[in-house]
Amino acid sequence: MAKILAIANQKGGVGKTTTSINLAASLVKLGKRVLLVDLDPQGNTTMGSGINKHQLDGSVYQVLLGERALVDVRVSTQPGQYDLLPANRNLAGAEVEMVALKQREFRLKQALQSIQTEYDFILIDCPPALNLLTLNGLCAAHAVIIPMQCEYYALEGLSDLVNTIKRVRTGGLNPAIRIEGLLRTMFDPRNLLSQQVSDQLKQHFSNKVYQTIIPRNIRLAEAPGFGMPALYHNPRSRGAKAYLELASEILTATN
Ligand code: ADP
Ligand code: MG
Repeated sequence: MAKILAIANQKGGVGKTTTSINLAASLVKLGKRVLLVDLDPQGNTTMGSGINKHQLDGSVYQVLLGERALVDVRVSTQPGQYDLLPANRNLAGAEVEMVALKQREFRLKQALQSIQTEYDFILIDCPPALNLLTLNGLCAAHAVIIPMQCEYYALEGLSDLVNTIKRVRTGGLNPAIRIEGLLRTMFDPRNLLSQQVSDQLKQHFSNKVYQTIIPRNIRLAEAPGFGMPALYHNPRSRGAKAYLELASEILTATN
């Protein structure tokens, strides 16, 4: 059975998509079968995986609305690499259309049930909002990875997300959900503030903070332009290596 991880933070630009793509590729490199779900109408994960969001035969949108089966719209990215459930701006409409549906928080969870045995990991890249799409991600997941930049307002935003996760757990939507780990992204060790925020983070969340730190690395920012993870485009870059290290850390914690 796949371990399902939501990658969430309601703040935009913190590295959710970069983490989704590069963690997916790194887990595959370490021998795991991975499905990546793009749950953001921006479709950055889709484009960054080399799939043209403007030319999709079907997308996660139709799966959530129950119009298409997941197996019919998932695509393989590159031979021997991870599979993708793609998204594009149609998904923005799902927010509204799903409200009228039964079990609206559980549409993704139900869709994933049919293919859970085919994968070791299912990663869900959530949109930058605490909306119904993100809620679908949180209800489908066993645990949450929270990427964050170590800057001044980071901790403040974090409490909203942590409270949402708590409500999902105690409100009965997903009683087993937990925080898998907090990931420090775009880290610059020369920046004193980064160090301070990082220290505070460890005080508050201690063992939940991943040991692996993702450095600010231009190769990670360039790779999406080539439609591939940094691990394929520039495997020797510090960024690619950091995500491989993160994948190992997650595997060690899982076993
Ligand atoms: P989110 O999905 O949370 O909005 P992204 O992963 O799209 O965030 O990252 C925001 C921007 O920062 C993108 O342009 C991305 O290429 C860049 N970026 C992300 N992580 C890094 C990193 N470690 N080093 C340099 N640039 C990064
Ligand atoms: Mg994103």
